[in-house]
Amino acid sequence: MAHTNTYPTPYKKVIILTGLFMIITGLAVLFGWAYDIQELKSISAQFSSMKVNTAIGIIFLAASLLSLLLSHKNATFITLLAIAPVLFVGGVSFSENILHYNLNADDFFMPRYTTALPHFKFAETMSVVASFCFLMASLWIILVQFHNKRCIKAGQYILHTINLISGGVLFGYLYSEAYMQNFGLGTHMSLQTSVCFFVFSLAATLFHPKEGITGIFTGNKSGNIMARKIFIRMLVAIIVIGYCEILIHNSKVALPGLGSTLLTVLLILVAIVFVHEVSKQLNYVEEKKELAYQNLSLGIEAAPYALIITDNNGLIQHINNETERLYGYTKNELIGQSVKRLQQEGNDLFSQNDKNAILENGKFVRGGDNDSQYLQHKNGTIFPAELTFTPFRSMYGRSILISVIDLTDSKHREDIINRQIQELYQKNQELEQFSYIASHDLQEPLRTVSNYIALIDEDYPEEANADIKVHLAAMNSAVGRMSKLIRSLLDFGRLGRDRRLTAIDSQVVVNEVIHDLNGLITSSCSTIIIDSPLPTLYGYETELRQLFQNLINNAIKFRKKDTKPTVHIGCAKAGNFYEFYIKDNGIGIEPKYFESIFNIFQRVYHNDMYDGHGVGLANCKKIVEMHGGNIWVESLPGAGSIFLFKVLRLKKSAVSEKRHLATVE
Ligand code: ADP
Repeated sequence: MAHTNTYPTPYKKVIILTGLFMIITGLAVLFGWAYDIQELKSISAQFSSMKVNTAIGIIFLAASLLSLLLSHKNATFITLLAIAPVLFVGGVSFSENILHYNLNADDFFMPRYTTALPHFKFAETMSVVASFCFLMASLWIILVQFHNKRCIKAGQYILHTINLISGGVLFGYLYSEAYMQNFGLGTHMSLQTSVCFFVFSLAATLFHPKEGITGIFTGNKSGNIMARKIFIRMLVAIIVIGYCEILIHNSKVALPGLGSTLLTVLLILVAIVFVHEVSKQLNYVEEKKELAYQNLSLGIEAAPYALIITDNNGLIQHINNETERLYGYTKNELIGQSVKRLQQEGNDLFSQNDKNAILENGKFVRGGDNDSQYLQHKNGTIFPAELTFTPFRSMYGRSILISVIDLTDSKHREDIINRQIQELYQKNQELEQFSYIASHDLQEPLRTVSNYIALIDEDYPEEANADIKVHLAAMNSAVGRMSKLIRSLLDFGRLGRDRRLTAIDSQVVVNEVIHDLNGLITSSCSTIIIDSPLPTLYGYETELRQLFQNLINNAIKFRKKDTKPTVHIGCAKAGNFYEFYIKDNGIGIEPKYFESIFNIFQRVYHNDMYDGHGVGLANCKKIVEMHGGNIWVESLPGAGSIFLFKVLRLKKSAVSEKRHLATVE
């Protein structure tokens, strides 16, 4: 037995109001007994009175009903405590009434002869019907404590029984039919008692609104709404007609035959109105259902994919036009057949295990990226496809919707792209090979020219011809410059060869670069400030070191004459990238050079102002692109520059060395 009650019910307010009504009624009746007020005891002198025991029992029953709403840990105890006297008095009174002996049950709550309130001496034994209802109500309270489906169901029907009995008594009062007020057993049940039991038995069923007859009236389905509407109207109509019949009969306003005929006609008319209402509602529901079915069929037919509905054994129940087109079968050829007909022989794409798993776990997708996803056309052609299995309840029962996406075209495109990537990779390798060989071989004739210049220089006496000496020096310098350019070209071509992705702590790399540039930093009185901690990332270490070295070197190299260089370095996450910046307070760059400086051998100033060959930033660009990113500059002439670059945040596990592919963190 649970310790807390807490029955989740949306009808909490109705239950509370019912409980309060019962308590007020009970108290009013007790007051009536205490001060001998007839109207409070029995409403009318001709009606039976509500007994003292009954009034107190009703109060306890209401308390026990309300306590079911409590979520307190002792709620069950309170409920049982409240119902115990009800069960006792109900039980004893019932046996007294049935076995006809006096156990003085009516003295249980109030002694019969109390001097303080002499009127209580008229308190009599409660009616058989009331004691039976108390017994039933107590039984219900006990049953629901078990929180078990069977007990709840039994409890619900016990409440319906109380409802029927108390409703019958109410009819007895309505039609002044004495037999209905006690069902031929003992004293009559009072009007107040029958109302209390009637509302109690209705409200109590709302703890489990989907159970028993209550389930017909609660809920929001068309049937429930219709039941609510029609039942209430029907009840009113029947009561009125019944009342009229009694009235005609008692007052003799018409001959009995004529009166009955008129009322029968009236009953038929009322029945026609109700039948009309029911049929209208049913037709409306039918139309809605048809519309929904049409929309569903339209959706299935208009789908750009093949859609197949099978039962849980894999027998095809429905296919759309696209399925006919894709597989080459007609609907008649496939409906009722096993879905195996659409598979490549030996490739069971939809085994019994799969079906059970789908029905149990829901949607399941079979990607189209391995051999097992090949399906078979009627003409025997095999084609790749992606399959999605979705379980649902159709009009055939448990069904599975299979959507088939033909991957022939996308597989074809994928093959072409893969081939192109392969070709591109090969061409790239050839190009790297070519630039390496070209620049390497170019050095050879240069070395020869340089040797000959040295020979001529040596052979010519010092005083021979000053001009020739000057020309030879100029030639030598040009050859030297060209050699450097070729070496830069060679380095540029080599960049990224034999690269290996590793985890790199960029903070460490930058510290090492600063250490390497110590001479330049000291001689130029530069300050390097790292604004934010630099991340660890997956990349190519040698190349990243070169990237930082070029950018920091440039930031110091292109300084203003009268200003000590200050370089700021920082990094932030930007989506799938890390975004680094190297900011200086140097000479700055005119916007028209923002693009060109990243091309090889492109410089803004002449060689004599700042040394260099215009290769550094081209290298930087190539390195950043190798890391899936890009580089750009923001600058104002005279106000310094910020070089920014983004590199992908790579995950080690996803790095593929061969094709330099990687996925984002
Ligand atoms: P190099 O430094 O050998 O000239 P780079 O490719 O590194 O070649 O730079 C290309 C040009 O971009 C430089 O000649 C210079 O004009 C400009 N530049 C690069 N970095 C800066 C900087 N921090 N401040 C101003 N100008 C710069």
